[in-house]
Amino acid sequence: MKCRSCRAPAAVEVRRHNAAFCPPCFVTYCRNQVARAIEEHEMIGRGERVLVAVSGGKDSLALWDILLDLGYEADGLYIGLGIRGYSEPSGEYARAFAARRGARLVEVDLPRDFGYDVRSAAAADRRTPCSACGLSKRHIFDREAVEKGYDVVATGHNLDDEAAVLLGNLLHWDLAYLARQRPVLPAGAGFPRKVKPLVRLAERETAAYCVLSGIDYQVEECPMSAGNKHLGYKDALNAIEERSPGTKAAFYHGFLERGGSLGAEVAEEEREGLHPCPACGAPTVAALCAFCRLVERAGKQARRRIPLSAGSAR
Ligand code: SF4
Ligand code: ZN
Repeated sequence: MKCRSCRAPAAVEVRRHNAAFCPPCFVTYCRNQVARAIEEHEMIGRGERVLVAVSGGKDSLALWDILLDLGYEADGLYIGLGIRGYSEPSGEYARAFAARRGARLVEVDLPRDFGYDVRSAAAADRRTPCSACGLSKRHIFDREAVEKGYDVVATGHNLDDEAAVLLGNLLHWDLAYLARQRPVLPAGAGFPRKVKPLVRLAERETAAYCVLSGIDYQVEECPMSAGNKHLGYKDALNAIEERSPGTKAAFYHGFLERGGSLGAEVAEEEREGLHPCPACGAPTVAALCAFCRLVERAGKQARRRIPLSAGSAR
């Protein structure tokens, strides 16, 4: 097989595009896909400050690398989840990448800064670990971005992630989630703008990008992911994609083109009911925001004002 761009021997096949690329052209292809997503959806303006949600895995490190290569001012934020045997090496990969690229990495550690880990929070707040984790990460990324003056938060959700979430939201006809499932969520009501520049790249492409770019990343799955229903949706979509390459991309991008207004009214109503949390200032519809409730239940050193400045920058 020959590289589509330069006719050298190909190393990576992209079946949905009926194409294959040699290593340098594949890296360029990935960069171009990210640049195209940013432009198509007006994700990031030139000169804007970007905060990248960094987990130490392939997607977030590939995203950070590409944003830096594209010339964006992009800092990383790593959140230590306190998952023994998993969080420590994940943090190491994030730090090593930041050191190699000379990039700025801000760190927040749930056990150190908030007195809980994902497992204990799940038990105390009667949630699944992934729910406690997602709530904590969303809150901390939002607050860090708003307080430190970042224009936009960029997350490493790839095409596989977004297609799996879309399938789950459609199976349950969850209109509020469908409305929020956009590659760009505008800033407003105390939230920063949030963007997903990897929506044109599949999971195996971000892995190949890291390998070909010499980026070491956490290859272990999070031990809390077992039983996560999105993994089942991914398996189902992978089985379809195997038979009909391109279906996943058609499903997700078709939704963006044609199903765009689904749930917009529900989302608008939700935003209208928001007010600042009296404890931390984050937007909420409840008397106390879900994150502050979680910290109260799970945090051994719960504090009324969430000290994001406790996070250390490297
Ligand atoms: Fe968090 Fe669940 Fe992902 Fe683990 S699998 S990092 S607990 S969301
Ligand atoms: Zn709060």
